Amino acid sequence: MATSAMPAAFLGHGDPRNALSDNRYTRAWREFGASIPTPRAVVVVSAHWYVGSTLVTAMPAPRTIHDFYGFPQELFDVEYPAPGSPDIAKEVAEVVKPRWVGLDRDGWGLDHGAWSLLVHLFPRADVPVVQLSVNALEGYDEHFDLGVRLAPLRDSGVLVLGSGNVVHNLGLLDWGNEEAGFDWAVRFNEQCSKVLLEDPERVRDVVHHSDYRLAVPTPEHFLPLAPIAGIAAATRSPASTLVDGYVGGSLSMTGFRVG
Ligand code: ZN
Repeated sequence: MATSAMPAAFLGHGDPRNALSDNRYTRAWREFGASIPTPRAVVVVSAHWYVGSTLVTAMPAPRTIHDFYGFPQELFDVEYPAPGSPDIAKEVAEVVKPRWVGLDRDGWGLDHGAWSLLVHLFPRADVPVVQLSVNALEGYDEHFDLGVRLAPLRDSGVLVLGSGNVVHNLGLLDWGNEEAGFDWAVRFNEQCSKVLLEDPERVRDVVHHSDYRLAVPTPEHFLPLAPIAGIAAATRSPASTLVDGYVGGSLSMTGFRVG
């Protein structure tokens, strides 16, 4: 099965306006979506569902959540009507046992961490999607372990997607620096990329990097990388960089493909 397994990916979603943009990031996302076999379902771990437990959406028709403010109306008008899948949600809960994942039948939906990517990956919104939360009470290791446990889903055509940003410091954004990264951002991003590509088991060590606190002032955008590193380590699948770049000095848009 190994050769036919679905790849997994981590994508840096950046600004919500990427949902409606045509730029080198969104083109890379589109090319990735077009390059893989149509998945049976997508499991998206989104930075924007950061709650005190690990939950998976389990409703048949998840709503499109516009979880931002101050953006143009056209962004609030975006709907991503992909079906959900109570069955896939149950599969996720089953495959990660004895870890507990709660079924969210009517609470959340698809937030912009998920749909700002999915509108490019699967523009027809015809692939069932379930979202997984980032657990605010758990750290890197637990999210890595979650990926290790989710890895077998790849063999039955499920795409596991992490949506966040390796470097994400909104407080230090500098629009004068539109397409460059600050020195510390580049150092951290390059170290993280190098380790993920060479030895994904060791990505956890970057939390001790001297630039970690600037690059990752809060963990929610970084943690979706952990399950993808877990999948890379567990399956010994090679990782590659899908797209690379910086926005406003303090945001990296790097995306990785695994397998
Ligand atoms: Zn975000």
